[in-house]
Amino acid sequence: MGAGPAGLTVGCILRAAGIDCLVLETESREFIEQRPRAGVIEEWAVRGLEQRGLARNLLERAQRHTQCEFRFGGQRHRFSYTELTGHHHYVYPQPLLVTDLVREYADVRGGEIHFGVRDVELHDLDTDRPVVSYTDETGQRQLVHGDFVAGCDGARGVSRAAIPAERARTARHDYGIGWLALLAEAPPSSDCVLFGVHPRGFAGHMARSPEVTRYYLECPPGDDPANWPDDRVWSELQHRLAATGAPPLTEGRLIEKRVLDMHNYVVEPMVFGRLYLAGDAAHLTAPIAAKGMNLALHDAFLLGDALVAYLATGESAGLGDYSEACLGRVWEYQEFSRWLSEVYHGASSGDPYLAGTTLARLRRVFQSPSAGLAFAESYLGKDPAG
Ligand SMILES: Cc1cc2nc3c(=O)[nH]c(=O)nc-3n(C[C@H](O)[C@H](O)[C@H](O)COP(=O)(O)OP(=O)(O)OC[C@H]3O[C@@H](n4cnc5c(N)ncnc54)[C@H](O)[C@@H]3O)c2cc1C
Repeated sequence: MGAGPAGLTVGCILRAAGIDCLVLETESREFIEQRPRAGVIEEWAVRGLEQRGLARNLLERAQRHTQCEFRFGGQRHRFSYTELTGHHHYVYPQPLLVTDLVREYADVRGGEIHFGVRDVELHDLDTDRPVVSYTDETGQRQLVHGDFVAGCDGARGVSRAAIPAERARTARHDYGIGWLALLAEAPPSSDCVLFGVHPRGFAGHMARSPEVTRYYLECPPGDDPANWPDDRVWSELQHRLAATGAPPLTEGRLIEKRVLDMHNYVVEPMVFGRLYLAGDAAHLTAPIAAKGMNLALHDAFLLGDALVAYLATGESAGLGDYSEACLGRVWEYQEFSRWLSEVYHGASSGDPYLAGTTLARLRRVFQSPSAGLAFAESYLGKDPAG
């Protein structure tokens, strides 16, 4: 269920082992290949894709990032995480990764995929022959019988809700903060990611490609993008990201402008009968720490490998451990996302106590080598189990 990074990766792993599967997707192929979202992929996730034959284009085209820059108190503070750890980030836009994965799944590995499906429903999940029903593009109702359902249909899908309330717990956290997510047809204005911690609100700059840059501006939750005409956006970005010695941002046409209300959730366990949730369907991490797609890939590797082991040899340990194995990293990233949210938003909280303590936290990252290393490991997504 779902042709995002999670569903397509599971599909590719199954097809590589010669296992039949069907991917159902509500949108069209063109739509998912263009939907802009993530860009930062962690090194272990790229290695995981590479090991499964899914990273050829990524390794040829992705940029490698070795440092980021915080701007606060009118100064620039460079943080070279590669110097501290030897590891780096990859920047590869999510639409390119999804395009690669669809091509690999459907055109190279011969996987079946139906786009534009509607009214998807799950049945008999607590039996060993679960059923999925849906309306296809011609309006016909279809029934699919299978061994397993991988619920990879994202934050707005139906699979999470198919778990009876008494069989899973959903933990939620609402930050009470909005981010205006922007894509600009403008080259990056820095050779690294920029985080502006400013009394007027957080601002972020992230390269996506030589021609396109993602920006974020903290705004009230539920704000209307119409309140943000282009000149207001650029004036706020220039102001919040200004620092001594920093050239002004290169401006350009804004091709995406939408407000994201920052909230997180985690469903535990991620399994009900023969339904296995993966990615945003199971846990949402607001883009504060750029972790969601990485977690989706982590789940997909574990689920794909566990399904192959079970279906090919009857080995069930991977499926039995699946939820717990995913949730270790999920909770680690949730905690980092919360920590980072306080750092980003303390200065603009209106509470001078919070502003003072979170700026102290940020200075500690630059002044204490052990605090710097701890930050770098979380930022890079070091395996929490070591
Ligand atoms: C602005 C923004 C920036 C981000 N930046 C980053 C970043 O830098 N790094 C990072 O790691 N993460 C980032 N993320 C998060 C990342 O995009 C998501 O975590 C990721 O897409 C999750 O992948 P997924 O496969 O679980 O879900 P999705 O990508 O949401 O895929 C789910 C798919 O299921 C389909 N679907 C929905 N309902 C149904 C249904 N009923 N039946 C069948 N199909 C259905 C959807 O159309 C979709 O194609 C960002 C997110 C946003 C919004």
